[in-house]
Amino acid sequence: MNKLASEHGAGATNGEGAERIGEEIHGLMRRLYPICRSITGDGVRRSLAMMREYIPLEIFEVPTGTPIFDWTVPKEWNVRDAYVKNSRGERVIDFQKHNLHLVNYSVPVRRTMSLAELRPHLHTLPEHPDWIPYRASYYKETWGFCLTQRQLEALDEDEYEVCVDSTLGDGNLTYAECYLAGDREDEILLYSHICHPSVCNDNLSGMALLTYLARALQGERRRYSYRFVFAPTTIGSITWLARNESRLGRIKHGLVIALVGDPGPMTYKKSRRGDATVDRAVAHVLKHSGRPSQVLDFSPYGYDERQFCSAGIDLPVGRLTRTPNACYPQYHSSADDLDFVRPEFLADSLEICRMSLNVLDRDGRYVNLSPKCEPQLGRRGLYSKTSAERDVGQRDLAMLWVLNLCDGRHSLLDIAERSGLAFGTIAASADDLAEAGLLRPAAIGDKE
Ligand code: ZN
Repeated sequence: MNKLASEHGAGATNGEGAERIGEEIHGLMRRLYPICRSITGDGVRRSLAMMREYIPLEIFEVPTGTPIFDWTVPKEWNVRDAYVKNSRGERVIDFQKHNLHLVNYSVPVRRTMSLAELRPHLHTLPEHPDWIPYRASYYKETWGFCLTQRQLEALDEDEYEVCVDSTLGDGNLTYAECYLAGDREDEILLYSHICHPSVCNDNLSGMALLTYLARALQGERRRYSYRFVFAPTTIGSITWLARNESRLGRIKHGLVIALVGDPGPMTYKKSRRGDATVDRAVAHVLKHSGRPSQVLDFSPYGYDERQFCSAGIDLPVGRLTRTPNACYPQYHSSADDLDFVRPEFLADSLEICRMSLNVLDRDGRYVNLSPKCEPQLGRRGLYSKTSAERDVGQRDLAMLWVLNLCDGRHSLLDIAERSGLAFGTIAASADDLAEAGLLRPAAIGDKE
């Protein structure tokens, strides 16, 4: 088991525990999967109500037309039914069978038309003839259907009855927060988008994983306060930022969590700042995790990190995914389903999240109280091996690094990076030295 995980209760590393938690996260995804979500509407409300069975959630409704920076809250969309029927009355495309069949945010339609008229409204993935694409049209009022290439090829010249029984009108945009107060008012922000219908990795995996992360953190001592935000992508983070602009100074670190259940390696995308503590903490955890992983520089393309890292906001918020968006074939299609996302990868992603948060929560600066030459460690029982041994254990080495660099200027993460040792080993040494009276936490006024 990873040192840090064992010392800070990250838990999910042992086989049985990881299997169970992975299955539970997948179980929540299975419950959420059939619901037709969008950027507004009852699908989001139903999903949040379900998640509220697991964690305390405060739900916010923001009326259509509310100005939010350069945007306005859009009309609310709801759908009861949608289909295309042939002249024999058979539903050849049926929203009831899969909610991806309807272009998300389609305006209401009731018409009869020829295949030629219908054709421009149909979307397929010719390179994957059995998959239904996922399409949305939030900001252009139109309608359409998505179907498999095989379904399309089976459509004859006929008169088709097209029905989109939807409503698009004044209503609300819905989002939710789970706030867990810690010792400090300073916050760590965790964000998941919630607006995709029946697609799993993107982003039921993020919604379910963050629900379980909040549930786990609830029972633990926290130095930081944690704010989980569940909102639709783009318009949701813009809405949230506009409504919380005066409080953004409290956010010291943040992560957008998305696409965390596929088999690909963990991918961390740095914040716009590039050298924020969260960037260094996650990179450190990934490096010491022993798993394949990659760290990418910031770019203004992707998910809601684009808003958190926009020029006038510039928060230290990175993004943690496995395979990034658009980099796996199943992305935004019916093949991103409950089989594509596996419990073991959900558990693995949860563990990486928890270890990264542990580093952020535990990091700090200390002052060596006996800085003139090395203090006598043997006398205090701090050396695990006799000084005659040439092979100094990791813990002993960590102790020497901590004593050397705890001058009030270096954080434990600085020391972990510089020594090449795992953060957990450095933090444990700091605890031992503090207990032995050789170290104290740096106070305001100590040099930084
Ligand atoms: Zn997406």
